[in-house]
Amino acid sequence: MTSESRVSAIGAIASMSQEPPGGEPHPASIDFYAEDVFGEDAMRRYLPAPVCRKLLATIKNSDPLDPEIAPTVAAAMVKWAVDRGATHFTHWFLPLNGSTAEKHDSFLDLKDGKAIFTFGAKNLVAGETDASSLPSGGLRSTFEARGYTAWDPTSPAFVKRHSNGATLCIPTVFCSYSGDALDKKTPLLRSMQALASATRRLMKCFGLGREHVETTLGAEQEYFLIDRNFYLRRPDLIQSGRTVFGAPPQKHQQLEDHYFGSIKSRVLHFMTEVENELWRLGIPAKTRHNEVAPAQFELAPLFENVNLACDHNMLVMEVLRQTAERNGLVCLLHEKPFAGVNGSGKHNNWSVAYGDRNLLNPGADPAQNAIFLTVLCAMIKGVDEHADLLRATVAGAGNDHRLGANEAPPAVISMFLGDQLMEIINGIEGGHAGTGRKTAQMRVGVDTLPPLPHDATDRNRTSPFAFTGNKFEFRAPGSSQSCADACTALNVIAAESFDAIADELEKLDDRDFNGGLQKILRRIIREHRRILFNGDGYSDAWLEEARRRGLPNNPDTPSALESLLLPANVALYEKYGVFTRRELESRHEVFVAEYVRRVRIEGGVALEMAESMVAPAAEAEYAKAVEALATAKAAGVVRGRTAERARALRLGAALDDLAKKSDALRKALPGESSAILSAMADLRKTVDFLEGVVADERWPLPKYREMLFLH
Ligand code: ADP
Ligand code: MG
Repeated sequence: MTSESRVSAIGAIASMSQEPPGGEPHPASIDFYAEDVFGEDAMRRYLPAPVCRKLLATIKNSDPLDPEIAPTVAAAMVKWAVDRGATHFTHWFLPLNGSTAEKHDSFLDLKDGKAIFTFGAKNLVAGETDASSLPSGGLRSTFEARGYTAWDPTSPAFVKRHSNGATLCIPTVFCSYSGDALDKKTPLLRSMQALASATRRLMKCFGLGREHVETTLGAEQEYFLIDRNFYLRRPDLIQSGRTVFGAPPQKHQQLEDHYFGSIKSRVLHFMTEVENELWRLGIPAKTRHNEVAPAQFELAPLFENVNLACDHNMLVMEVLRQTAERNGLVCLLHEKPFAGVNGSGKHNNWSVAYGDRNLLNPGADPAQNAIFLTVLCAMIKGVDEHADLLRATVAGAGNDHRLGANEAPPAVISMFLGDQLMEIINGIEGGHAGTGRKTAQMRVGVDTLPPLPHDATDRNRTSPFAFTGNKFEFRAPGSSQSCADACTALNVIAAESFDAIADELEKLDDRDFNGGLQKILRRIIREHRRILFNGDGYSDAWLEEARRRGLPNNPDTPSALESLLLPANVALYEKYGVFTRRELESRHEVFVAEYVRRVRIEGGVALEMAESMVAPAAEAEYAKAVEALATAKAAGVVRGRTAERARALRLGAALDDLAKKSDALRKALPGESSAILSAMADLRKTVDFLEGVVADERWPLPKYREMLFLH
């Protein structure tokens, strides 16, 4: 018996025709950018000027939406969508399962027996969904299975195309009859409002007039691409998104020859298709490159308003998946598809803008410096006070394999500022660095900051929360996770800290504003400097040091999620009207249940693969060895028997192990997640050993060296 299927997968890739060189060069164009978005351009073309002005005021200045304009907007939107080939519409929302949800209705109606397209204000503004199968964590009582969707005019409607049609998608929030949030967008919008008021209040202390506040996010997306022929032969990838077995290849990322390497033509073809589609959807894809691990890549957009950026990231993940499929590839968004190889994250680059001013921009004059240092210290305080909450927002079965594994940021949240900024912070604190080294006193609001380096040399890739020149980069979120949870927490944490500082600044005498500010910042640094860490976040020494500093370390999802219900975090969310306790409890319940289900699925898949794929291959190999031994004996051949016996014994022992460990996993399956995970890890050792012993042609599962290198 040979494993036809794996061998034929390799054959299929080998015989794939190399792409012909492109035709005649033609000038590139970006005219189609945002062509499928009902944005400012389309609004101007399809809406009467006064209505357009009102709608734009809502979108840009967060003015309340005038319900009177809804019918006109709906009519314009449907006209625009039908012009673009759409026949259906859907409210598009972000349920708690972390993906996107849509339920399509056609524009079709019958009038006097004649078919027409209609779409009214009612269809646009609100929807009712039987959402009993979407997770609610007990927020919908059983008799009230419906959920309600409501239009979010601040994220523009868009048209999504498929091969023979198109659908108008209207971004909405999703909540229960009683108004409890059942999605990820509602709390995000609430948190943006909270941060906007707190920011205005803080800026007023610095004598600034009222401006528009914008939270900004640029989400860098990492992913793996493998050939679909391999994927289809890996039940674990299909069912759980990660390989539960697989021996590391001899060569993976040791030579560091993939990162920023030249991009293979098949991948580049894929990336170009992705970008074209994203640009059409008004998603500003900017950067593409190879990542550290083989077959790993990254896409980074220009930053945008956080609500838009979160929606856009969901679409980026969808476009990546679908485009891969069209190209005979599969895009793996799981945080750790391959053990022993780098995992995938999603770096959330976050900042706050006040009018034209990026508040995390150090700036050139003492006044701007004072604002920057205040915001920086507010973040030091907030991240230290709610580090456990930030950790909770990135919890998940997939991300557990990444956080703390030797390549991703650790599960301990700390903040990296870089040497120069650290020196300035020490200067504010009073001239004493942690090392006892004297630094010059920094007078906030009087001294000008030295120019801070923006370049990549000052980067610490091991830090989960790093200041990178003019923004914070939260690197703990996993590649498959929505940015919304993390950004909601960041916004509220910032709001609380801004308010706390404003409380004090408002009491200061104008004549000694700078002196008073200096004292406040000094105290904040003294109280919260334990969160600052510029060293190697991967080292064991840091974990020990973090423990001494009293920083929380929640290594897995169940422990991390508990922080959602701690008094300080509940109080924070309730104070800003972002979550009620009930909503937090429901989320806790949903996320824990999801974790438990995922682990069970993985365990079940591992067991099934071990018994139905690995065991038969190992048995056949064992039988062959035993048979060879018997044949040699019968023929009176002595040479080779020692080796053949040793081989039979090794295979036999592994087979016994395999049976024993499969049984252990079977017993663990209905129980605790941690027991399932450890039984799986144990079973994996035997399976990966067998992979190295069983004849290559007989091994049924595509190997790491194939999945990671052949495409
Ligand atoms: P790198 O981190 O590779 O040096 P950049 O610093 O240019 O790249 O940006 C990384 C991401 O951070 C991009 O998505 C970029 O748009 C985003 N970014 C840059 N400035 C801001 C900002 N003020 N707010 C939010 N995101 C930002
Ligand atoms: Mg980055």
